[in-house]
Amino acid sequence: MTLAMTVSTPEPRTSGSPEVSAPPVAVILGPPGSGKGTQCARLAERLGVVHVSTGDVLRDEMRLRSRLGRRVGGYVDIGALVPDGLVLEVVHEALERHQHADGVLLDGFPRTIDQAEGLGRLRNEVRVAVALVVPRNALVRRLAERGRADDRPEVVRRRLASYQRETRPLLDWYAARGVLVHVDGDRATGEITRVLTRLVRNAGVGGEPAPRP
Ligand code: AMP
Repeated sequence: MTLAMTVSTPEPRTSGSPEVSAPPVAVILGPPGSGKGTQCARLAERLGVVHVSTGDVLRDEMRLRSRLGRRVGGYVDIGALVPDGLVLEVVHEALERHQHADGVLLDGFPRTIDQAEGLGRLRNEVRVAVALVVPRNALVRRLAERGRADDRPEVVRRRLASYQRETRPLLDWYAARGVLVHVDGDRATGEITRVLTRLVRNAGVGGEPAPRP
């Protein structure tokens, strides 16, 4: 399977045994159009961490007409969530592949409590869950401008409804675990990146390279 993600020179860790290495994770939550993808790409570059976007992976698989792509296409096209088991497999594989990275940003995953619980069973620790907050009218405007295949108005309505129904409960789930932070996502891109960089780095995901001896 080809995984589409931004990889910024993940270097092998120098301490700990390779078998138990599992990079810390920052989960970036927010409705479609809230800027998760844009911000994760910028953060990955600044912090030298890996960006895993489940939406990008699924779209790539669909373009390649792989077995996975053919299974998920029907869901993605209408803005419905892909079954949890399939997405969990994608994420599990990505995390294993990047087990030596300094950190991983998860963009578009988890989207349901079941997915969050699945992630919780993996070896990686979720250090921070960031919820990007953007008013609905701004989301609708941004998605219309972006013009991806699943940004058509009727599909957008379904994706926003799915976010409210299935993903929003995750905010409480992560809040109960003490890792949720809300970030205003309705301002200049650079300003949001500055806030997120500090947050994610302070949570121990990526950041300054270890000082040389
Ligand atoms: P995104 O690029 O994150 O907006 O995702 C695009 C589409 O991919 C979504 O509308 C879903 O159909 C599917 N998708 C991406 N991530 C997930 C996920 N974690 N769980 C279920 N479906 C997903």
